[in-house]
Amino acid sequence: MSGATILDGKALSKQLLDQLAGRVEACKARGATPCLAVVLVGDDPASKIYVRSKERRAAKVGIATADHRLPATTTTDELLARIDELNRDDAVHGILVQLPLPAGVDEQRVLRSVDPRKDVDGFHPDNLGLLMLGTPRFVACTPQGCMRLIEHAGVDPSGKRALVVGRSNIVGKPVAQLLLHANATVTIAHSRTQDLEAEVRRADIIVAAVGRPELIRGEWIRAGACVIDVGMNRVDAGGPKPKLLGDVEYEAAAARAGSITPVPGGVGPMTIACLLANVVSAAEQA
Ligand code: NDP
Repeated sequence: MSGATILDGKALSKQLLDQLAGRVEACKARGATPCLAVVLVGDDPASKIYVRSKERRAAKVGIATADHRLPATTTTDELLARIDELNRDDAVHGILVQLPLPAGVDEQRVLRSVDPRKDVDGFHPDNLGLLMLGTPRFVACTPQGCMRLIEHAGVDPSGKRALVVGRSNIVGKPVAQLLLHANATVTIAHSRTQDLEAEVRRADIIVAAVGRPELIRGEWIRAGACVIDVGMNRVDAGGPKPKLLGDVEYEAAAARAGSITPVPGGVGPMTIACLLANVVSAAEQA
């Protein structure tokens, strides 16, 4: 079966969180407890689970959270007013607006309204621009988590062929920038890519961020490649609960890859740890 090193995101995120605890203590000692404001609009069940999980992890490392739950009927202007308050509040170091926002709320306007120095998700155009220039302030959490996993795999991207599948603003594009800054030769594939299989076959590093269960077949993976699977697809497998599948056909890919992230337990836990690392950095810089 698998010859690949399994990249355990749970264990790696725990290491990162343990390191954060010391930095949190140092902030507290100078009277600035790192604080993340979490804004959740509406009743999306998956968003509620994500928010709870972020708040629980934050509490474990001593980061304070301030919950801002708003009804699904909230207008863009009402949400902008709440963010303005949080921007002005010196006790708040990071602001997270849980996506997706209800239909009718202008997501781009909302994300642009967050003070870039409190934008711990790294979605503000200032922060995306700084990343592009190679002088990042806050790097989006999932892309940052992917890079930490690649590093943990002992893979230096320099000179390697990296393939990013997916070009979203929150995962695909920023992770491609990070790989470029790490001197990889980067290809970005998307829904119009003509021959995805051929692109995958020549890649030394593959970051899959598509949202299509097992789109990337195991037999396409180049022997020894590093595979980072961001995809989280809930699929009905006939059991009482849906099964969580990645964008990569895991078992078959693990038989060929040099290293691979499982789903769940790979990228997901790293995303939260990187978010909290950004909150601590924001508190240190405040
Ligand atoms: P988006 O839906 O925003 O983007 C998906 C991308 O995949 C698009 O660029 C799209 O191309 C591309 N795509 C769609 N179909 C194909 C195809 N057949 N071949 C190649 N490319 C294709 O998704 P996100 O980036 O937000 O998320 C991607 C996945 O990662 C999801 O499963 C999501 O749940 C998961 N995720 C996991 C996180 C974690 O912490 N583990 C965090 C964030 C996301 P085009 O642009 O042409 O439409």
